[in-house]
Amino acid sequence: MNGIDGGVALVSGAASGIGRATAQRFAEEGASVVAADIDVEGGEETVSQIESEGGEATFVETDVTNESDLAAGVEAAVDTYGSLDFAFNNAGIEGDKVSFSDQDNANWNRVLDINLNGVFFAMREEIPAMLESGGGAIVNTSSIAGILGFPNLSPYVASKHGVVGLTKTAAVEFSSDGLRVNAVLPGVIETPMVARSGEQDPEATEQTIAGIPASRLGQPEEIASAVVWLCSEDASYVTGQPLPVDGGYSIQ
Ligand code: NAD
Repeated sequence: MNGIDGGVALVSGAASGIGRATAQRFAEEGASVVAADIDVEGGEETVSQIESEGGEATFVETDVTNESDLAAGVEAAVDTYGSLDFAFNNAGIEGDKVSFSDQDNANWNRVLDINLNGVFFAMREEIPAMLESGGGAIVNTSSIAGILGFPNLSPYVASKHGVVGLTKTAAVEFSSDGLRVNAVLPGVIETPMVARSGEQDPEATEQTIAGIPASRLGQPEEIASAVVWLCSEDASYVTGQPLPVDGGYSIQ
């Protein structure tokens, strides 16, 4: 993909699933990667995997609810590799699956804190650093739950709709400064997050697959290629867009 080679990418949630696959894809395309995650062991494993393939990566322990951790990630990109060109704000959790009136404040606050505040805090740190070097590209992870409702997931759905709103707002504010901001909306992707709910309810997973036009789960690498494309010069006129990558799930 054009324009990725030689750039610097910050990826949150890089210890697992979609974040790890995207960190690896950025590195394969020639970017240096700052891998950020609360999971130190998984994050360091991502860095080792990238390095063993000849890529360049650094791990920064990050809780996306902590603003100084996010500032440290941006600083690591600039200090270690010279700039911040791409950011993939992807760390997220599903939270407890319970009906509306049974949602307690703790679950609501935790999901909103990580999935929505975490993206806002991250962008607030990333944008000035990107503008400093003439622009860049941000991709935020929303979900098809960012455009559709799902039962028993009210905080998750609210947080992912919020990510779409933040993405559009930042795109309107900064696209004339050379900074594009988009969101990726994964469908049901085979990652540890989905494996956990599959273990709890295998029948529900079968039913979900039956409802996907592509008749299968997506792979993390299929999200990674959309994210890196959105960051590349091949997507130079794409900004503010919520892009579903979902095997057709959201078109029905
Ligand atoms: P995953 O559980 O495999 O990975 C999530 C990563 O986020 C983990 O490495 C975890 O340690 C990290 N994380 C969690 N809380 C954090 C925090 N406070 N600070 C820093 N890191 C933290 O899940 P995944 O499926 O790869 O999910 C990645 C993103 O994709 C999430 O935002 C999720 O909501 C979204 N998503 C996933 C699917 C899916 O089907 N897998 C679908 C739609 C959207």
